[in-house]
Parts: sequence; structure tokens; C-alpha cells
Amino acid sequence: MSDCLFCKFVNGDIKPDTVYEDDDVLAFRDINPQAPTHILVIPKQHISTLNDLQPKDEAVIGKLYLAAKKVADQEGIADAGYRTVINCNEQAGQTVFHIHLHLLGGRTMAWPPG
Ligand code: 5GP
Ligand code: ZN
Repeated sequence: MSDCLFCKFVNGDIKPDTVYEDDDVLAFRDINPQAPTHILVIPKQHISTLNDLQPKDEAVIGKLYLAAKKVADQEGIADAGYRTVINCNEQAGQTVFHIHLHLLGGRTMAWPPG
């Protein structure tokens, strides 16, 4: 998707602050962090929202979470704990329409979320 910000990160047009990359997944620091550690984990494949996920994409979500686990360990937040969030559409606050998992840690999280 030529007009998608996160596809530009994937194809190298714009370089984010990358913390992890493999064949299927890219992880980088959020530009407006909401916690001491705030990383976005995205599939390299463009999928706009969770609503667009198809059965053939089953492995993509697994890969996002396996990468999140790896990055949490790398960032030193695995044992203390962290939160993962995928916002879907307007009421959840999704602003970038290329699916992304927020990995948040380094502070105590409130529940319920706002
Ligand atoms: P959403 O609100 O869609 O769940 O999350 C989008 C996230 O992307 C936000 O946390 C926002 O700060 C982050 N973001 C938006 N533009 C950029 C950017 O240019 N670079 C990075 N690293 N993060 C961005
Ligand atoms: Zn995209």
C-alpha cells in the first residue's frame, strides 16, 4: 500500500527506530510513547484492521505475538510484566490502518483501560 505509513517503514522509504525484524515482522519504537517501553510490532504484509484478518492470515498473528515476546525479553520487561494491545477502528482509537500490536511496559498499568 503506497499511501500507508507502516508499509513505508517495511519497504525502507522511512526508517523507524527498529528493535526487531525478521522475514514477516517489524518492531520499532512508538514515536509518542505511552510507557517507558512502547513498541509497535507489525506484520510486513499490509492488513488494515483486525476486521480484515482472514483464515489464511492465521500465522501472521502468531508471529506478531512471538515477536512481542522476544522484544519484551530483549527490553528487560518480560518478568515484571507488560501489556499487548491491538486497537481496531475508531472507538478503540486506531489511527494507523496497518495492523499493529502495541507492546507497553516499564510501569504499572491501570485496568480497565481508558
Ligand atoms: P493506534 O492509535 O492506531 O492503535 O496506534 C498508532 C500508533 O502509531 C500511535 O501510538 C502513534 O504514536 C504511532 N505512530 C504514528 N505515527 C508514527 C510514526 O511516524 N512513527 C512511529 N514510530 N510511530 C508512529
Ligand atoms: Zn501498510
